[in-house]
Amino acid sequence: MNLPEPSSARRHRSRQQLLEVIRRENGVTRADLSLITGLSRSAVAETVQDLLNERLIAEDVLAAGGRGAGRGRPSALLVASGGTGSVVGIDFDHERVTVAVAGSDGSIRGEEHAAVNVDSEAAAALDVSVGMVHRLLGQTGTSMSDIRSIAAGVPAPLDMRTNRIHSASVLTGWVGLDPAEELSNRLGRPVLIGNDADLGAVGELRYGAAKGARDFIYVKASEGIGAGLVLGGSAYHGATGAAGEIGHTRLGEQGTWCRCGNRGCLETVVSSTLVRRLMTELGIPRGRDETFPLADAAKHPVTGRFISEAGRTLGRVLADLCNCLNPSLIVLGGELGTAGEPLADGVRESINRFAQPATAASLEVKVGALGLRAELLGAVSLAGQHALLEI
Ligand SMILES: [Zn+2]
Repeated sequence: MNLPEPSSARRHRSRQQLLEVIRRENGVTRADLSLITGLSRSAVAETVQDLLNERLIAEDVLAAGGRGAGRGRPSALLVASGGTGSVVGIDFDHERVTVAVAGSDGSIRGEEHAAVNVDSEAAAALDVSVGMVHRLLGQTGTSMSDIRSIAAGVPAPLDMRTNRIHSASVLTGWVGLDPAEELSNRLGRPVLIGNDADLGAVGELRYGAAKGARDFIYVKASEGIGAGLVLGGSAYHGATGAAGEIGHTRLGEQGTWCRCGNRGCLETVVSSTLVRRLMTELGIPRGRDETFPLADAAKHPVTGRFISEAGRTLGRVLADLCNCLNPSLIVLGGELGTAGEPLADGVRESINRFAQPATAASLEVKVGALGLRAELLGAVSLAGQHALLEI
């Protein structure tokens, strides 16, 4: 057996603890680190030097500004940096797969997407994503051994106890599969897996419209509707990982049958599929911007109205959720989110009308800044965080 010595195990723990605090605070002095972690100043100094040598953190003297001014040089602020190595992010949407290879600091080196029937052809979608990973590694001159972490998002509730998809109504071809294990077997590396809306929230939090927010709801409104919840600065998944399934909120006793077996669910009346169907009927071409495909639909007088009405209906459901959670921000993402302001205006109108006045007054509604890339960038960010903490 090759158990680490107690002192090296302790050093490893201190190292992880310090990296975690530096990443969370993103600007902290050595003295603060000692206070926050309870580690001795000499232990902090030694470990920080190791992390600096490995380029996992950096000193930011300029950002330190006046801190520590007055006597000698200002205390340098320690910030997380990319370190070495690469990560992979994968996003499985219902009809397409996107893959990115990035530095562990999140800088994208290569990205591509492919049309696949993800919902019903699980094995094909998994194989396609693996082929894309290998191709991107070749294009970016990255070797598989350089990949420190891989994260992937799937558009279905994931049972966090088993890592399996257990919904019988969404991703029918994936039921009972362990996507992390399937990908890991194909790539020969461990893979983290997450729900797509949860990863969209991470993407907008790190790179987009939710930077700095601690209590917010990310809505992924595409073919279906799901929400990623960030509460008190942490992602909230619920007891088993199924939190945020707002698409199956019932709007009435009657209405269209939903794939979940109920009638009148939100996603039977609000979905990007309905907008696309209307666009086809009206002869409106799909937008050329692949990241924001419904931006043009929002400008058309008929689809624009339809999208505003979808926003009001979505906002009616979100108003109740906001009364429960009191978030400071809602970010509208997914394909429908790329319709932009007409959707956001509709959501705002219903929230102002139906949420409690104090809740509505302290709430901002924004369109996602990352369009269809939010989930992919969330996967890249998750993989980067994991790589940083695993060292
Ligand atoms: Zn339903």
